[in-house]
Amino acid sequence: MQSTGTNVKTYLNYIDGEWASGIFNKTDKSINPANKNEIVGYIQHSAIEDLDQAVISAKKAQLSWSQQSGAIRGEYLYKAADILEKRLNDIAETMTREMGKTLNEAKAETARGVSILRYYGGEGVRKVGDVIPSTDSEALMFTTRVPLGVVGVITPWNFPVAIPIWKIAPALIYGNSVIFKPAQETAVTASKVVECFHEAKIPKGVINMVTGSGSIIGQGIVDNRSINGITFTGSGEVGKQVGLGAFKRGAKYQLEMGGKNPLIVVNDADLDQAVDAAISGGLRSTGQKCTATSRVIVQSGIYETFKEKLIKKVKEIRVGNGLNEETWMGPCASENQLNTVLSYIDKGVEEGAKLIYGGKRVESGECKEGFYIEPSVFENIHSKMTIAQEEIFGPVLALMKFETIEEALQIANDVQYGLSASIFTKDISKMLSFINEMDAGLIRINSESAGVELQAPFGGMKQSSSHSREQGQAAIEFFTSIKTVFVKS
Ligand code: NAP
Repeated sequence: MQSTGTNVKTYLNYIDGEWASGIFNKTDKSINPANKNEIVGYIQHSAIEDLDQAVISAKKAQLSWSQQSGAIRGEYLYKAADILEKRLNDIAETMTREMGKTLNEAKAETARGVSILRYYGGEGVRKVGDVIPSTDSEALMFTTRVPLGVVGVITPWNFPVAIPIWKIAPALIYGNSVIFKPAQETAVTASKVVECFHEAKIPKGVINMVTGSGSIIGQGIVDNRSINGITFTGSGEVGKQVGLGAFKRGAKYQLEMGGKNPLIVVNDADLDQAVDAAISGGLRSTGQKCTATSRVIVQSGIYETFKEKLIKKVKEIRVGNGLNEETWMGPCASENQLNTVLSYIDKGVEEGAKLIYGGKRVESGECKEGFYIEPSVFENIHSKMTIAQEEIFGPVLALMKFETIEEALQIANDVQYGLSASIFTKDISKMLSFINEMDAGLIRINSESAGVELQAPFGGMKQSSSHSREQGQAAIEFFTSIKTVFVKS
């Protein structure tokens, strides 16, 4: 890190254990979405030559890193966890200033990062293979796992601490070295995460960070033949490009992409709990979670009561700067994101949906200089409308009505995505139909659609994912290759 002479710092790439400017000394500004006049930091706008340097360093470091015992690799993760925990308040505040989520959410996310590091710290000494009985009585047959080599980690801005860590920690513990390309929107937060590994004195070259645009550095990772695996989280549009590029050159890839997550509310549901789940799952973090509830599909017998209760609570939501304690919902993460959400709202109205709350930019008081929007609710929606089909990634709920559980499932499944889905009911047979028939990687019963514990597999179906799973022990599948060994005396 270096100072520019003002209070605004310039953050550098991290290559071969050193902080370095990009080759052309070009920087981008990271702006606070709560106040567009505040620059959170300057970050490197790197060139492909910077990425090449990082890849050379990662390649050089990987073999000796993989030859360390898992227990020793784990020690570095434990140290990084302790440092992240010590810096939690600062890093959480940077996250809030960089992408707008409330400070409480940012603290919880950073604490999650600490727990993920500790979880994987322990994975270095757990079982990685199986002994398989051979038909040859004189032979021993077993599987072992080897690292992929150099892994590219490409991440979005919406969870700038947790997502990078849930990729980097398993990559490292299983013996890979890492090239990390965070979203440019949140590269200051990402730099502070990498500082924790640096302070933990992780060997040079084991983790490298190169910031810059997706089309240069992200694409460069996809194209670089020395990078053996790519783990990507982001939009479906970019994800497909990443997957295709990786596939063409034989690299292993893992894609976690968007969602259009339903919440089904059955007549017998606890309505207050269901309303709270719709609000928390759909509007927290300004709706910018891949698992956010987007469609609330309510049975006709309770529809009007549910709607009334929902709107009453939505009206109470306090929109404002995430650093203020009273704020419940911060701004959109960027102007671009705000404009996308506003254009989806226009499209909804144009296609005949009824906007029953919100829909406008908020520009008064403390919100004057930021990218704020009202929490918004639509009804009179049919399944083929754009706002019922496409991921909005903003605080917009679409209320839909159903008569039978079969109809609810049909509506819920009628999208290209399959990430997370939830249902509120007391009826076990409806729960079972939902578990069996809902196309989603995360099934949540009597609980909001957003959220998953760090030790459980995470990932989607259909176009939400490349169908591999992240987190917990599932991560070993992506970050290693299996070798089947046959030994004859
Ligand atoms: P995005 O635009 O797809 O960007 C994701 C990352 O890809 C960023 O680092 C971006 O770089 C980079 N990138 C852009 N173009 C690239 C290219 N041609 N080749 C390689 N990399 C490229 O997504 P986002 O707007 O940051 O994040 C929002 C999306 O992420 C939503 O769709 C959300 O649902 C999804 N998401 C999914 C999950 C999940 O686990 N399923 C979790 C969180 C978010 P720059 O932006 O810096 O240029």
